[in-house]
Amino acid sequence: MPLAVHLLFGAIITALIHPLGLGLFLAFASHYALDALPHWDYSIENIKSKKWNNAFPDFAKIFFDVFPVLAIIFIVSKNPYLLLGAVLAGLPDILMFSNWIFPNKILLFLDEKIHNKTHYPEQKTRLCLRALVTFLIFILAFYVLFTATVNSPLTGSFSTLSKTSLNGPR
Ligand SMILES: [Zn+2]
Repeated sequence: MPLAVHLLFGAIITALIHPLGLGLFLAFASHYALDALPHWDYSIENIKSKKWNNAFPDFAKIFFDVFPVLAIIFIVSKNPYLLLGAVLAGLPDILMFSNWIFPNKILLFLDEKIHNKTHYPEQKTRLCLRALVTFLIFILAFYVLFTATVNSPLTGSFSTLSKTSLNGPR
């Protein structure tokens, strides 16, 4: 699943689930649940095969996948915990990259035994269907992010919201 989707879900889960520690843990775990769905993902084969001379487009894809969404999460929520939840939700992919670049037993276990095992086998479904599922989840995640952050006790907008409801209509 593209990182943008993982980051959005991580922020949403952190905004909605309390206490914070549980929310952050579930944000991390949501990565595996989302990867288990049929989905489309872009190729970063050059990074995987360490062809560094050709890897710039792969790094550019990751950059544009990650930073605009992190910026939107922060602008919408103004809450660093939601950013932390987003990063934790992306962590399994960061561990996967680390395993490719600096292979070791722990990373190999996390990547191959957990990440790969829970990942949806891409060949099982047609590309157009997987792309559609990914697109719909992405749009849904944006919608929920906007609603979830408004209602979350973690975010600033909640205090203005509860003040209005406490004071009642004038
Ligand atoms: Zn993943």
